[in-house]
Amino acid sequence: PIAWFNGRFQPLEEIRLSPLDRGFLFADGVYEVIPVYQGHPFQLEAHLDRLDYSLDGIRLPNPMSRQDWREMVETLIQGNGGGDMTIYFQVTRGADHQRDHGFPGDDVEATRFAMASPLPVLPERIRREGARACLVADTRWARCDIKSIALLPNVLAKQQAREQGADEALFHRDGELVEGSSTTLFLVVDGVILTPPKSHAILPGITRDVIIELAKEAGLSVRQEAIPLSRLSQASEAWISSSSREMVPLTRVGEQPIGQGDPGPVWKRLQDALVKTSRQNRSE
Ligand code: PLP
Repeated sequence: PIAWFNGRFQPLEEIRLSPLDRGFLFADGVYEVIPVYQGHPFQLEAHLDRLDYSLDGIRLPNPMSRQDWREMVETLIQGNGGGDMTIYFQVTRGADHQRDHGFPGDDVEATRFAMASPLPVLPERIRREGARACLVADTRWARCDIKSIALLPNVLAKQQAREQGADEALFHRDGELVEGSSTTLFLVVDGVILTPPKSHAILPGITRDVIIELAKEAGLSVRQEAIPLSRLSQASEAWISSSSREMVPLTRVGEQPIGQGDPGPVWKRLQDALVKTSRQNRSE
């Protein structure tokens, strides 16, 4: 596969990174993941806006213009066959001459990396029965709205889920559901779609925004509000969403089934709408 490193397109396996890179030493960087359908990136501008937001959040100037980002993504898609894929990219604060927590001088350039990967395929069991989640205490930092490459709590939570036979870990904090380890959480309670409001506690999901828009277009009511853990037992449906996995129905949390324990009609309706809108060859 063709990847991209500091402005150059080259095979992924030929890319070499300094051990002094601050991404490696401090996880001092941010990233994005963009889905591509039939060669067309979905919500590219929203992802580039969020990249700017994350870079602002860690006080790292964007090393490239918006147009340069667009062209890089386009070339990477074409260089990898132009079908369905995800584009991952990250920016770190570069490689200094020594290990020092404080920012390096202006002579140190940000490290820029991007690669294409296949879109993950949903296992047949999840497609049929929906996904299972486990609950994990949210021990992350107070700026989860920044898409930071520091993902250790997310890594540990996902592994804990795996070891418990679950597909995703749902973070909870102060008696409230927050989000998945790499997904946004939605519940349906009394016919109303609920998802936590944007705040420093969650990543502002791009898919989240699209789903809320589609729900409103479909005349469904959506409330962005805190979700106490007790809501789980009242929910008729739940799902998780992300750029690479769209909407995945959540039919069990721990030992507890959600609703009837099957993928529900609201999920189905909105997932169909999401597939439709994301395959319309639009890039914004
Ligand atoms: N929340 C977390 C913690 C994530 O890592 C992600 C995506 O990776 C999401 C939510 C979903 O965001 P998006 O829909 O922009 O992919």
